[in-house]
Amino acid sequence: MDIQKQYIDGAWVASASEEIRDIINPYNQEIVAKVTESDAADAKKAIAAARHAFDYGDWPKTPATERGKVVQKIADLIERDREELAELESLDTGKTVEESRGDMDDIAGVFRYFAEMADKDGGEIIDSPIPNSTSKIVHEPVGVCGQITPWNYPLLQASWKLAPALAAGNTLVMKPSEITPLTSIKVFELMEEAGVPAGVVNLVLGSGDTVGGELASNDDVDLISFTGGIETGKKIMQAASSNVKNLALELGGKNPNVVFADADFETAVDQAMNAVFFHAGQICSAGTRLIVEESIHNDFINALVDRVKKIRLGNGFDESTQMGPLISEEHLVKVIAYVEKGKQEGATVAVGGGRPDDPELQNGFFYLPTVLTDCTTDMSVVQEEGFGPVITVEKFKTEEEAVRLANDSIYGLSGGVFTNDIAKANRCVAKMRMGTVWINDVNLYFPQAPWGGFKQSGIGRELGKTGLEEYQETKHIFQNLKPEPLNWF
Ligand code: NAD
Repeated sequence: MDIQKQYIDGAWVASASEEIRDIINPYNQEIVAKVTESDAADAKKAIAAARHAFDYGDWPKTPATERGKVVQKIADLIERDREELAELESLDTGKTVEESRGDMDDIAGVFRYFAEMADKDGGEIIDSPIPNSTSKIVHEPVGVCGQITPWNYPLLQASWKLAPALAAGNTLVMKPSEITPLTSIKVFELMEEAGVPAGVVNLVLGSGDTVGGELASNDDVDLISFTGGIETGKKIMQAASSNVKNLALELGGKNPNVVFADADFETAVDQAMNAVFFHAGQICSAGTRLIVEESIHNDFINALVDRVKKIRLGNGFDESTQMGPLISEEHLVKVIAYVEKGKQEGATVAVGGGRPDDPELQNGFFYLPTVLTDCTTDMSVVQEEGFGPVITVEKFKTEEEAVRLANDSIYGLSGGVFTNDIAKANRCVAKMRMGTVWINDVNLYFPQAPWGGFKQSGIGRELGKTGLEEYQETKHIFQNLKPEPLNWF
């Protein structure tokens, strides 16, 4: 098996560390690839290449229209290689190929969106209060960007960072999650093919503490953009303070899904399931906290449990599979411990609550889709992000109580409200402290809409206009049209 390499200054190179990491298919633990294991010295080299490309290269000065064409070309190549990319993503993460195909379409869409945005901002003339002067606002690239991504949506999360950074004229070093680097490697090949100049995009493939830590702390990095867990986010914030880097953090979520009695019952049940069992719940915006009006609570749980029992677990490459495994053994152990703690705290397992018996699933990191009832906000399963196929159910009597429960969290990434009373929906949405709130829907995102969290779910927004602005500095240019001495001194 070939050893896949890092991409530094336009060349595919192995790490001097000579260490190799096995990449595992979480469905059966087979080794699907081997990659070089970068270390801090590799990260330093990659940062130096990006620094040089930014300070002396053409990319930041290339007309935005031309940069946009290159970003469009990357989208074309992703579409050309859609099937190969989707299969790689499923091999690496265990998610169904059907889902990965959808991811690839979304990813191409993200590159197209930012490609089209690249030359739409020609700056702004503002009214100067000073006579005989002009005042202009322009946006410039931030500089060298460090980009660190998680394992749950490896290429999708990468695209939210790569596309705007390139469109805005930055240079960058990316570090994908060490357990899911395969589609990122492939997209760096595509960026090379699309004509991104050497040094502009660099890829390192090591672990969080060493390589990620170097990106976060190195003084030649101007911006660090991170997607991952809260605790890692806090470390990155600290490390980024060394040179007061620009900081963009997309952290976790513990997302409430409020269902009122007047909602369309079947839709609400269906969407409660989509919210949490898609990709085995390994989604930052997973609706893991179901908050149901008391009058329909029992019927809702019965309907939910009936359907959850029918979810088909299996190989993501099998068309009948609806839910794949968790990403790793380490993560499986965490999810098991999370549910056990919930049980000790008084939660009842209505369905699931363990590993499947099916002999075919024993080599994979599978956990049964699980519904925990009798939950209250003080329980750790309700407060902590489990990041698995586990939903907790709480109940409420009044609209006020529903909103209070929904907001009772350190997180503020996303939430859902199901009701047919639009006034009620809007009253709730206005009070829900989250970056995205869906009314009668869940987990929808698209390139045009900003994505990010309130509270400890993060800082900044990816996607949308704000997603490009994260990769820009704002400069005010004031010009005196009639210079003359002031004679103050
Ligand atoms: P993680 O925090 O463990 O790792 C994320 C990345 O950070 C990886 O590349 C890892 O190698 C790196 N890293 C780890 N320690 C580091 C350090 N000290 N310095 C620098 N980098 C370091 O997260 P994960 O387990 O890969 O992903 C799951 C988490 O990501 C969940 O909390 C999920 O909610 C979150 N997430 C958030 C969003 C969002 O848009 N808000 C999207 C996807 C995932």
